[in-house]
Amino acid sequence: MAVVNGKHIPRKRFGQHFLINEHIADRIVESASIEPDDTVLEIGPGKGILTERLIGLARTVIAVEIDRDLSALLRSRFGRDERFRLIESDILTLDPDELFRDVSSRIKVVSNIPYNISAPIIEFLIRNRAHIAEAVIMVQKEVAERFLADPGSKKYGLTTLNLALCARGRKIMEVKPGAFKPEPKVMSTVISLVLTEQYHYPLVSETVFRTLTGIAFRQRRKMLRNTLIPFFVSNGITKQQALDILLSAGIDPKSRPESVDVSDFVKICNAFATQHSGSTAAESRQ
Ligand code: SAH
Repeated sequence: MAVVNGKHIPRKRFGQHFLINEHIADRIVESASIEPDDTVLEIGPGKGILTERLIGLARTVIAVEIDRDLSALLRSRFGRDERFRLIESDILTLDPDELFRDVSSRIKVVSNIPYNISAPIIEFLIRNRAHIAEAVIMVQKEVAERFLADPGSKKYGLTTLNLALCARGRKIMEVKPGAFKPEPKVMSTVISLVLTEQYHYPLVSETVFRTLTGIAFRQRRKMLRNTLIPFFVSNGITKQQALDILLSAGIDPKSRPESVDVSDFVKICNAFATQHSGSTAAESRQ
């Protein structure tokens, strides 16, 4: 039982840390600049500290809550308001077509998300960016740093790159553990991600991008010539051609992946994709 004497006992497995600081709740919602026509998706509304503010501003608030006791509480608090739509479900198992049905323009996500599933939630946002214009979310500080890292920083990596392809991120504020009940062990950061449907760079293949950046960062201390060139060669390209891929993209083969920015990774990928299709075409002619 998660309700004792009418009180909800937080469930660890659902990453429940409820925001109790009203001032921070105000600032999160303000930073989303909700317009009267907006539809807002809130993932994990909990007891509704953000929800109550969002309902006053948006046309519709779609709230997805996995915990049935909290869902019952939310229903009794907001259920009579026609601007409130509650989906009692796991956000990660929802069919997006069903979720975004009836939504004509791109929506905003405002949420203090469950930290234990922040990676799949970010993937969800990226995958559904045709429906999502912006996300103002509270995440663990460490995670926010990885999203917003600049090349050269220790936090710069695959997460940064995947997001940089289709999002512009900015930090809104840091939040201390004392703003929540129960208190998390970590610092939190509110960030805004503005998502674009089109990639910011002319990437020819997302699969190549993911494979190549994965190989480069799996051994992030190694120079690219020691990770990418063997990979290119194992794909039927000569050593010289492999080197030329890096040089034609303007990359020093001695550089390490953490110093290469997203647009340069895109250049390497595109040069490889062109070479590779050339060499497979040559192979098939033989
Ligand atoms: N937004 C609230 C609650 C944050 S705690 C506040 O700021 O106070 C995280 C919330 O996400 C909890 O309500 C938890 O039950 C919910 N949650 C956890 N996993 C979820 C999932 N997979 N789908 C939907 N909600 C989830």
